[in-house]
Amino acid sequence: MMRTKLVAGNWKMHGSLAANLGLLHAVREGAGGGAEVALCVPYPYLAQAQAVLNGSHVAWGAQDVSEHEQGAWTGEVSAAMLADFACSYVLVGHSERRSFFGDTDAVVAAKFVAAQKAGLVPILCVGESLAEREAGITGDVVTRQIDAVLAKGGIAGFARAIVAYEPVWAIGTGRTASPEQAQEVHALIRSRFAREDADVAGGLRILYGGSVKAGNAAELFGRPDIDGGLIGGASLVADDFLAICAAAA
Ligand code: PEP
Repeated sequence: MMRTKLVAGNWKMHGSLAANLGLLHAVREGAGGGAEVALCVPYPYLAQAQAVLNGSHVAWGAQDVSEHEQGAWTGEVSAAMLADFACSYVLVGHSERRSFFGDTDAVVAAKFVAAQKAGLVPILCVGESLAEREAGITGDVVTRQIDAVLAKGGIAGFARAIVAYEPVWAIGTGRTASPEQAQEVHALIRSRFAREDADVAGGLRILYGGSVKAGNAAELFGRPDIDGGLIGGASLVADDFLAICAAAA
């Protein structure tokens, strides 16, 4: 099945109104056809992203969302609020949320469902730590993370979702999974979904994330089950990010 590649930037907690402006305009002007492009920005900059990117090839989204719909949840941001700013995408289960903010598999599953209820496309991030890889349990970890979401939302939810495989040891470390290592896990992820529904599995876009750079993007994106990338550090530099987008086109 043909799957259009997606390159999604994750700015993490970087930016300022002044600094973002040049970056947003450069990505807007430089992102051509071929691959889909999206930027996941900090909450306060969603309005700015919407203002600059509206009507362009570039979509925008957030990096997290509350599992709750509304109410007394001080500091949280709901999926409906993200929809108010015309977000297309939202990350759920990024490894930094899982490790530093206590997002369990169950919380991630609830966020995934909350995002979809508001019409957003969740990008479900999964991946193993270095210790888990060295212990030979990468497949178990990734399957457990996916199964929690399947148990809560069912396979049908993955007809309008994205999965991002991000080995924790490769995020922000400059250490990238080799194309072979990444492809092996991507194939395992797709086969897990195929056990539920072959059509959904065939259409599902599985992104790779973890120190993707202009120099390694094409080789990664050339593998059969790698449908684009989730890009942290390199999404903060327009030329680097656009080169990665071009590698996916
Ligand atoms: C990320 O933040 O999801 C990520 C993959 O970061 P980096 O590209 O910097 O490794």
